[in-house]
Amino acid sequence: MPLTPGGPLNEGHFFPVAEAMARFADHDTLDPAPAKPLGHGPARYFRMRRSGGLVGFIGAVTCADFCADCNKLRLTADGKLRPCLGRHGEIDLHQALRATTGDRLADAIALPAAIREAIVNKPEHHGFAEDFAMKRPMTAIGG
Ligand code: SF4
Repeated sequence: MPLTPGGPLNEGHFFPVAEAMARFADHDTLDPAPAKPLGHGPARYFRMRRSGGLVGFIGAVTCADFCADCNKLRLTADGKLRPCLGRHGEIDLHQALRATTGDRLADAIALPAAIREAIVNKPEHHGFAEDFAMKRPMTAIGG
């Protein structure tokens, strides 16, 4: 997962999941543990047969279906709602809140509309494999 605004990812800048799993397999057998505990992220989980430990792999770049079941939105500390960590699009909720008119009905509709816009514009997958370069570090956007 790219964490800093250091330019586009290339193969020299990440550790592939397949290689990490191969290193685990040198020490223990990994059995798929498909049930994700509520609240866990996009990792694929495996139970280590010998130790019983649970391990999750996050293959943001090397797993083709990484984003397939993502249902997350991030709210940044500066009031932006971000549909995807790996795309630049943001909805400015802070501005939407500041722009309230005092008309309670209109204001009650405006904010859900902004949130709906973020959901409707949630991309099907990130852009890490394209020439995506982060503008802000992951820690600034909830990743
Ligand atoms: S869609 Fe975006 S936020 Fe969701 S898992 Fe993919 S990169 Fe992460």
